[in-house]
Amino acid sequence: IDEVNGNFARSVKNCIFSKSIPTPLRGPLRLAAASKDVIEGILDLDVALTHTNDFLHFASGDKLLSGSVPLAHRYGGHQFGYWAGQLGDGRAHSLGQYTNRKGEVWELQLKGSGKTPYSRSGDGRAVIRSSVREFLCSEAMHFLGIPTSRAASLIVSDEPVIRDKFYNGNVKTEKGAVVLRLAKSWFRIGSLEILSQSGEIDLLRKLLNFVIDEHFSSINSDDPDKYLVFYSTVVNETANLIAQWMSVGFAHGVCNTDNFSLLSITIDYGPFGFMEAYDPAFVPNTSDDEGRYSVGAQANVGLFNLEKLLNALSPVLSKHQQNQAQSILKGYANINQMRVHQHFKAKLGLLGEEEDDGYLIAFLLKMMEDTQSDFTMTFRQLSEVSAQQLHNRKFPQMWALEDLSSHKLFSDWLSMFLLRLSRQLNDSDLQRQHRMKNVNPRYVLRNWMAESAISKVEMKDFSEMELLHRILSHPYVTQETAEEVGYAARPPLWAKRLKVSCSS
Ligand code: AMP
Ligand code: MG
Ligand code: MG
Repeated sequence: IDEVNGNFARSVKNCIFSKSIPTPLRGPLRLAAASKDVIEGILDLDVALTHTNDFLHFASGDKLLSGSVPLAHRYGGHQFGYWAGQLGDGRAHSLGQYTNRKGEVWELQLKGSGKTPYSRSGDGRAVIRSSVREFLCSEAMHFLGIPTSRAASLIVSDEPVIRDKFYNGNVKTEKGAVVLRLAKSWFRIGSLEILSQSGEIDLLRKLLNFVIDEHFSSINSDDPDKYLVFYSTVVNETANLIAQWMSVGFAHGVCNTDNFSLLSITIDYGPFGFMEAYDPAFVPNTSDDEGRYSVGAQANVGLFNLEKLLNALSPVLSKHQQNQAQSILKGYANINQMRVHQHFKAKLGLLGEEEDDGYLIAFLLKMMEDTQSDFTMTFRQLSEVSAQQLHNRKFPQMWALEDLSSHKLFSDWLSMFLLRLSRQLNDSDLQRQHRMKNVNPRYVLRNWMAESAISKVEMKDFSEMELLHRILSHPYVTQETAEEVGYAARPPLWAKRLKVSCSS
């Protein structure tokens, strides 16, 4: 821990954390959202407690638990392909770890809680819009079954925060918010990179040993190859995570090494997006001109980031181990492709493995691309339609399937798909639908949904945020209230105008 005090921006050396006291949000504080699942299931508290003043002050950075030493983490990273030097928690404070009734250890962190030594020219704040998005999306990802950080609460205030003058066409001043978020660990690839880049090799070894002991229980701390085993695990799990993102059309938006977790969970929700019309070139972040982090580029970006991780580990690996690590990295693409293949087979309800399965999937995706079919709803409606309806080309009210079926090769694909299903002997059509509904969500956090919740939260109306949070907690179950507000309907026309940038 850095012994220099004060939250002034500086270059920090020879430490992993700096002590940093949050700057409480000014203005009347309001609880905009709380996650019962996190508050009760992880923090062992009654969710009613979130309505107390104590909680408001704790979750906005105004009140510390006794004995708590809030910390800002020092990390670096490769941003958009280039080494960016020291980054660190510029607007986040780790409050400490909590070991819950289940024996799980969770690290609590505030985001938007003021300046730290790592704020550079930033103000240490987060605006309501990006905080609502982080809260909703991290919770939604969890309920989709994708490893992620969690969100316990969202506190909003009237403290003015200056970002872009123009936001979706309007001039506006924004307001501050703080998310109380949790992860088993917030360490990133950049946590190791900064130590390696600065030649702080003893500290690098110390952090690695700590991370391995705390989070990689299957690795023996006496194993001379433990850093190699660690690397291999991160390669595997990153390949897995990105395959899971692809299976729901999630584009993270800013896949820099400082935003890639060592535990391979999804962290740092910024200008993310769920792809709507199927398009591998979909870029959620309007600041990403070159489309470096398009949805389809993520597998490759994972490879780039894992290469950077290997560079960071090199000082603690022997020459022989470095060579072994290189061949582990060579296996990454295969692992990722295999996992993607498995996800898409499951999304189509396919059992076993047949030679043409890859072709069947690629053929469908190509038709989706040509017809701009909605990614989420095409797969969902294929799960809800019966084989008989498919056979008869009857898709009542199934707008995504209607789009897809306008493709001139749709009949060819359909015959192939139905034949493939008919060869699944120990399967029924109902079982097939049931399996598919469990992996093809009906509701994902589309920008337009987030946007309408955000504009209400900004006017202190939290009802839509709550509704969205509730619906997205059961993404695989058809819910009447969600249907009434059109969450599974064709997106409204104004949704096309929405833009999301890095500004947050
Ligand atoms: P991100 O692109 O969100 O991963 O952020 C990259 C870096 O910028 C991290 O070190 C953040 O802590 C820092 N950062 C982003 N926004 C702010 C802000 N408003 N104030 C201080 N630091 C910030
Ligand atoms: Mg980040
Ligand atoms: Mg961020």
